[in-house]
Amino acid sequence: MYIKQVIIEGFKSYREQVATETFSPKVNCVVGANGSGKSNFFHAIRFVLSDLFQNLRSEDRHTLLHEGAGHQVLSAFVEIVFDNSDNRIPVDKEEVRLRRTISSKKDEYFLDGKHITKTEVMNLLESAGFSRSNPYYVVQQGKIASLTLMKDSERLDLLKEIGGNKRKQIVQVVQYLD
Ligand code: ATP
Ligand code: MG
Repeated sequence: MYIKQVIIEGFKSYREQVATETFSPKVNCVVGANGSGKSNFFHAIRFVLSDLFQNLRSEDRHTLLHEGAGHQVLSAFVEIVFDNSDNRIPVDKEEVRLRRTISSKKDEYFLDGKHITKTEVMNLLESAGFSRSNPYYVVQQGKIASLTLMKDSERLDLLKEIGGNKRKQIVQVVQYLD
C-alpha cells in the first residue's frame, strides 16, 4: 500500500484544485522554490492521516482555509488516493480514496465518496498499519537526528512498536525537511 496521488483544494496556499502526478511506490521527491507550498503539501497529508489537525478551533480553520486578497475560501479538502493492491486497507479495491473536507462549521471524511465517521477512519487506518497518534511514517525535520541519537532502549521500543503484534509496518516514509 502506498500513497498514489494527493488532490488538494482550498487548503492553505492551494486555492485551485491541484492533483499530483501519480507517485512511484519507491522514492518521490517534492521540490519547489521557497514559499511554493512544499511544507503545506506535507501538512495536507498529515491533515488526513495524523492527529495533528484534530479538534479544530475556528482560528485553526482560519489558518487552514486558503485566504488570498482578503478573501477566504469557504471550504477545503484533501484527498489521498492509496494504491491498495495488497489490500492492507480492508476494502476490496485496488484503489481507495480517503478525503477530509473542512469548512467553517463542518469537518467530514469520505471513503470512496461515501461519508464515514472519524472513528471509522481511525479504525481503518489502524488496521492498515497507520498509527495516527505516533505517525512514525512521517519523519519530520530533525527527527532523523533524534533517531540516530536515541538510546538503544528507545530505538528498540520504536522497533517493537513498528513490528508489533498488530499489522504494523512502515507503510511509507514521508520525510520532509523544511
Ligand atoms: P520553504 O522552502 O521556504 O520551506 P515551502 O515550499 O515549504 O517553503 P510553505 O511553507 O509550504 O512553503 O508555503 C508557505 C506559503 O503558504 C506562504 O507564502 C504562506 O503565506 C502560504 N500560506 C499558508 N497558509 C495559507 C493560507 N491559509 N492561505 C493562503 N496562503 C497560505
Ligand atoms: Mg517548507
